[in-house]
Amino acid sequence: MVFDVESIRKDFPILNRKVNGKPLVYLDNAATSQTPQQVIDVIVDYYSNYNANIHRGVHALSQEATDAYENARRTIQSHFNAKHPHEIIFTSGTTHSINMVANGFASLLKKGDEIIVSALEHHSNIVPWQMLCEKTGATLKVIPMSSEGELIISEYDKLLNENTKLVFVNHISNALGTINPIENIIDKAHNVGAAVLIDGAQACPHLKPDVQKLNVDFYVCSAHKICGPTGIGMLYGKEEWLQKLPPYQGGGEMIAEVSFDKTTYADLPHKFEAGTPNVCGGIAFGAAIDYMNTIGFGTIAQYEDELLEYATNELLQIQELKIYGTSANKTSVISFNVGNIHPYDLGTLLDKMGIAVRTGHHCAQPIMDFYKIPGTVRASFMFYNTKEEIDLFISALKKSIMMLS
Ligand SMILES: *Cc1c(COP(=O)(O)O)cnc(C)c1O
Repeated sequence: MVFDVESIRKDFPILNRKVNGKPLVYLDNAATSQTPQQVIDVIVDYYSNYNANIHRGVHALSQEATDAYENARRTIQSHFNAKHPHEIIFTSGTTHSINMVANGFASLLKKGDEIIVSALEHHSNIVPWQMLCEKTGATLKVIPMSSEGELIISEYDKLLNENTKLVFVNHISNALGTINPIENIIDKAHNVGAAVLIDGAQACPHLKPDVQKLNVDFYVCSAHKICGPTGIGMLYGKEEWLQKLPPYQGGGEMIAEVSFDKTTYADLPHKFEAGTPNVCGGIAFGAAIDYMNTIGFGTIAQYEDELLEYATNELLQIQELKIYGTSANKTSVISFNVGNIHPYDLGTLLDKMGIAVRTGHHCAQPIMDFYKIPGTVRASFMFYNTKEEIDLFISALKKSIMMLS
């Protein structure tokens, strides 16, 4: 299939809007992606035709909603190549998924145990582990990074030992775009008997992970970064791990039998899905994955690499512009600063010209501390962006720099 970006763009109504009188150029995809009409239609259809509570009702609407929700789970299972549908737990997103695992490990860890995270983590992948360490007396170790924004694997090797119980690394850094060598990280952790959780929030928009091939213990992501709605995401866990971890929340849906003496928990995945879930969100998450797969991840990666290379070359023509995260192995995220200009000022002027970028620490303050900067401007691309948009961004950026120097 030939990739026709103009016809793809027609799927995204929001890309037609104007911001401050200028056509919107949306380059904040690493924060959230836009939603195609195909997914919006699924949401409208759900609330127009079969909105109901699931799993409990004998009536038609409840059964239709249950079928659609469980079909979405199977879509996600097959996309990630999980062995069983019940290894896919619906959550409210990456943050929720990580907290679920961290909470589960609270009963399995003890003083002297060690948890390894990486210097490239999002706050949502640091704070839950700090809380877990406080609760259990385990210690947190950090894989350091290089100035290119790559993890230093020889240092990781030194951190691993028989006390290592868990390793948590993101697949792709949201702040710098670095693709981490997770296969290697996972294998080495398993050699010392540690479990591995991979934060795939930033990877899933750009590639298709195979959890069985990776042999990863837990893999998590959010639907809103892959053309789905906010408030829904998933936790993949190997069956044996999900059996071992205690439930996260108590409530309806997650029980087998309840009496005041004893409650037994429901089977997977319901053990981890207490209460009425985000039914519509789950169904739309499945639709978003279907949508991305119709374009195809090979096509997406190839096109986004072109955008990344084009934008990087154009940006490097600008005097005093410095890009943070220069690994050869990266996706379409560019973090940069220009001279002493504060990133916030650049972001504000760009917005006046219709360009949406992110400024700040990108929920990754340790990375900013490493570079000794308060933050960066971050432009991140999806398959629906164009070279023309990059040209508009570059010319608006040059104008902003002139106004600020
Ligand atoms: C966005 C992101 C998160 C947090 O995702 P939420 O949807 O806010 O829970 C975590 N890690 C990475 C790498 C991200 O890009």
